[in-house]
Amino acid sequence: MRPYFDVHCHIGMTVSRAPVVGQSVGRCLARMASAGVIGAIPCPTAGSPQARGVLDTRSQNEIITKACQKYPERFPIGLGIVEVRHEQAGVDELDRSMCDDGLVGFVCHPGLSGHSLGGELYAFLEVVAMHSGLCLLHQAGSTSNIAAYARRFPSITFIIGHVSMNKGGHLDAIQHCAKYDNIWYDVAQKPEGADESWDLVHLVNNLNKDRLMFGSDLPYYDFRLVQAQIENAGLDDETKEKIAYQNAVRLVQQFNDSWEPTLSPIEPPQVYSELEMWDANGARLK
Ligand SMILES: [Zn+2]
Repeated sequence: MRPYFDVHCHIGMTVSRAPVVGQSVGRCLARMASAGVIGAIPCPTAGSPQARGVLDTRSQNEIITKACQKYPERFPIGLGIVEVRHEQAGVDELDRSMCDDGLVGFVCHPGLSGHSLGGELYAFLEVVAMHSGLCLLHQAGSTSNIAAYARRFPSITFIIGHVSMNKGGHLDAIQHCAKYDNIWYDVAQKPEGADESWDLVHLVNNLNKDRLMFGSDLPYYDFRLVQAQIENAGLDDETKEKIAYQNAVRLVQQFNDSWEPTLSPIEPPQVYSELEMWDANGARLK
């Protein structure tokens, strides 16, 4: 299989919905190793324990920092996470994680954090803009709000997570975001069976194929289904290589210009059984 690089990879536990789901750094590496994924941009899980408030967010961010420090060839850059309800304390933690720990931005999951990608994120985005950093945003309704961020914060590079999970979101992103150079996209959770009005070929033809990337959305999803779709899509090999990892390499090098991908297989720290890695209800990992 060709190498894959994953731009959408959560580490930690989601405990705010049942059943809880999560993964450690080690299990993440084992999953990557077993499926030809040679690197990733790690970020925390949303919906994690918050008994200590922003101190818990700091702990989440530090897990990502340590993963990047321990495996710089596999995790060349990392993202923190923000909770809008932390307000200025959360903004300060984001600034700390970027200035002191070298994270390059944040992930935001509106569905699990209870907001809507509006002005409530401006203070957080301003911190990232000062570093010309990176934000991975999960959709909340129309992507027109992400297009508005792209205009308002031109120095930030945005990734729209799982841009093509359903036909409505797919067409909406094409309508609102295709013209912005600072918006990139991952194809995590792309369902099988999309007809030609919204399949991968349609996405490539209507969003910039130099900014479309593979994403796993671990620990929630069996991403091998997306890899199979990319391999089987009616796309030329050059385009598949771009989506699988070459575009992501270019993106990462915007933030870590000396990094080059390591194409040899990952050697994970623990041997997990197939069941431990891939036990699933349909496409959703347990
Ligand atoms: Zn995600």
